[in-house]
Amino acid sequence: MAQFKLIICSCLICYLCNNIISQAQNVPVYLYFASHNETNDITYHGLDYADAADYATMRGYVKQVCDTIMAYNARYEMMLESNFILGCLQNESAHTNPDDLIEWADNTAQIEIQPHNHFKPFGFGANPYNYADLCHLLDSCGLSSTSEVMGGFIWRNFTSPPVNQDWTQWQTPQPGFTFPFYSWKPTLLWGGGSPNHIDDYDAYGIWKPQAATIAGFGIHNPTGALVNFGSGCSEDFILWDTTNVALLANRILNFADSVNLHFAGNANAFFCMKVMMNFRNFPSPGYAAKVGQLIRLIQPDVCNGVLHWQGIMETYTQWLAAHPNPNDYYLSRCENTVAISNAPNTATYTITLNGPDSVCANTPQTYTVNNPAAGSTYIWTITGNYTIVSGCGSNNSSCTLQWTGGTAGTVSVTQSTL
Ligand SMILES: [Zn+2]
Repeated sequence: MAQFKLIICSCLICYLCNNIISQAQNVPVYLYFASHNETNDITYHGLDYADAADYATMRGYVKQVCDTIMAYNARYEMMLESNFILGCLQNESAHTNPDDLIEWADNTAQIEIQPHNHFKPFGFGANPYNYADLCHLLDSCGLSSTSEVMGGFIWRNFTSPPVNQDWTQWQTPQPGFTFPFYSWKPTLLWGGGSPNHIDDYDAYGIWKPQAATIAGFGIHNPTGALVNFGSGCSEDFILWDTTNVALLANRILNFADSVNLHFAGNANAFFCMKVMMNFRNFPSPGYAAKVGQLIRLIQPDVCNGVLHWQGIMETYTQWLAAHPNPNDYYLSRCENTVAISNAPNTATYTITLNGPDSVCANTPQTYTVNNPAAGSTYIWTITGNYTIVSGCGSNNSSCTLQWTGGTAGTVSVTQSTL
């Protein structure tokens, strides 16, 4: 019986995968979707969350986004203002209903509910619920644990328009305004904002801000009471209803690849970032589909281990485990990080193909994709002298051949889900 040396080639492009190939990555990027809803959502889409029918309509859109994110095992921080929480309590009897949207979402492995607040106690457009009140309302919906994240705040005083910082008071537990018997203190600050986003504190990293000033916010205070969880660069990574999803995906892929390259070997470098969404865009046609499209397009870097879908508290817990020393911190403001480019990204993902590399002629040999993705299609490319026994088709993640002669042959496969 003659023996033939056969070379197995298997490095090809995959847009979706089930198994992460372990590679030594110095600086992974932790990624999640985040959303805000606002008290003025009605001015964008006409839906009044206090109205049962309007609330049900919006609930359907939110559920679509949640289902899409869960289907791909991505992560989502849903940050809610009082009007939507009240709508859930009123229209889904969330006090007692174990399946209301907020409680259901928070109980999933992929979604966390957090408060997002613009407190305005009096006057036109009043919102008499502060962060403590929101946490009390969320607890009333049946959340199993109280949120530890302040999902948006003003990081310093501004003069034009005049808006004051609103986070230093939360270094100690604060009572609710509407529910003064309830008090709350966040663990993490997230999303340092500014009036009309004129000067948001856009940064990556984890640190304890020293003061609510330009000079002090970026100084790490090891004994500080609040941790700032950097949310990334806001303008570049927003999924509006009008966003070109392919370009957004390119920016994310290019950013993650550049970080990996640029910060390689920096033991402290730590990048966590959001892809921001807003409830006011959810009713736009095809919005949930755009979420799915984005997830698929950035999948190569998820497969490669450059991007990790991971929520805020999950990431913070990981940081704490790796950095028990209170002096440890990481801070990189957006302008000091890496350039962000819309250019096409060439990230590929290596799949592996199992099979013998030394065979006898005229006996069946089976080659199997080691890490096939559900719903993929395959292109098998075979050289040499052979006959196909079974498989090897566009729906097959394995291919059985019988080599019939010659000295060498190759089998390669391309997996794709797009
Ligand atoms: Zn807001």
